[in-house]
Amino acid sequence: DSTEQVIIIGAGPCGLAAAIALNELGLNPLIIESRNIVHSISQYPTYMRFFSTPERLEIGDIPFTTNGEKPTRQEALAYYRTVTLRKNIRVNAFETVTDVVKEEQTFLVRSINRFGEEKLYRTERVVIATGYFDHPNKLGIPGEELDKVSHFFREAHPYTRMKVAIIGGSNSAIDAALELERVGAEVTVVYRGENYARGIKPWVLPIFEALVAKGTINMRFQSRVVEIDKGTVTIEGPEQREQLPNDFVLALTGFHPDRAFLSGIGVTIEEDGSPTFNDDTMETNVPGVYLAGVVASRKQANEIFIESGRFHGDRIAAHIAASHSNHV
Ligand code: FAD
Repeated sequence: DSTEQVIIIGAGPCGLAAAIALNELGLNPLIIESRNIVHSISQYPTYMRFFSTPERLEIGDIPFTTNGEKPTRQEALAYYRTVTLRKNIRVNAFETVTDVVKEEQTFLVRSINRFGEEKLYRTERVVIATGYFDHPNKLGIPGEELDKVSHFFREAHPYTRMKVAIIGGSNSAIDAALELERVGAEVTVVYRGENYARGIKPWVLPIFEALVAKGTINMRFQSRVVEIDKGTVTIEGPEQREQLPNDFVLALTGFHPDRAFLSGIGVTIEEDGSPTFNDDTMETNVPGVYLAGVVASRKQANEIFIESGRFHGDRIAAHIAASHSNHV
């Protein structure tokens, strides 16, 4: 067993930012991360560019400069790992937290490391910064479990001359459709909305709309895929149901935080699915358990992103500092 003052679960940008804020209080927190540092970003589409400018992704006052106006995935990976090294953030990578149990004064944190060994820690406080990327929103339709269906898009190359249905209408769906069209895939975008989502990057939308107008990309609004089979997808539109020939399905329908993990720790989940916590301190209804980053999202998973979630650690640090001075 080892004893810690603070354990942070998750080394995403927001967990790292929280570690820096807590380090500045002299708490020397330990991050436990089930994969590698900023695992979510390493899972992004290979050639993705962020929509944020680099200064809005900075943590720990370390400048993030990029060649272009917006960072690439590779630049962000380099940035966050450099910050981790420079700020000497303690990270146990490739170790998964399986549960957190409240004892009298402390918490017992249990994990499994990359050798399959169980590890136990005692800690005064826990910061949950587990994000949402491990939990894609499922479609709940027949055929979703087929190998040709993926909830993550990496790169377009494999899809040349393939018939691909993209489900969703967010930036991820639009970007993937454009990349696929460029490699010669036959793309149908199936989206339940009546029109393009409001958050679509304004410099991308005209390019996409032009391809739809030319008939190069097949855009279906007010439509959903209701069934997937080996060689087809069935789409239900405003007027009719039809079956299209299909090779691959990319279901880019977003993500949600693992609320079962939170409730297992005793954090109550409100009727609309929101975890209970104080916005000023990020402390949950379990004293000593805090949320940082996207895991603190309420109904809409998109309200928190790196730009906003990177400041959660400062609120947590301020609360801990205040509670320490109250005890003296
Ligand atoms: P994450 O980055 O998801 O980190 C959570 C970490 O916790 C992961 O590394 C995970 O492995 C780990 N973890 C989970 N469970 C456990 C466990 N039980 N034990 C140990 N570790 C665990 N945001 C912006 O601000 N600007 C952008 O331009 C932008 N572009 C985006 C583009 C794409 C394609 C996507 C998908 C998202 C984008 N976002 C952007 C959103 C941004 O990625 C997320 O808001 C951000 O990753 C949230 O950071 P986080 O630290 O809360 O969670």
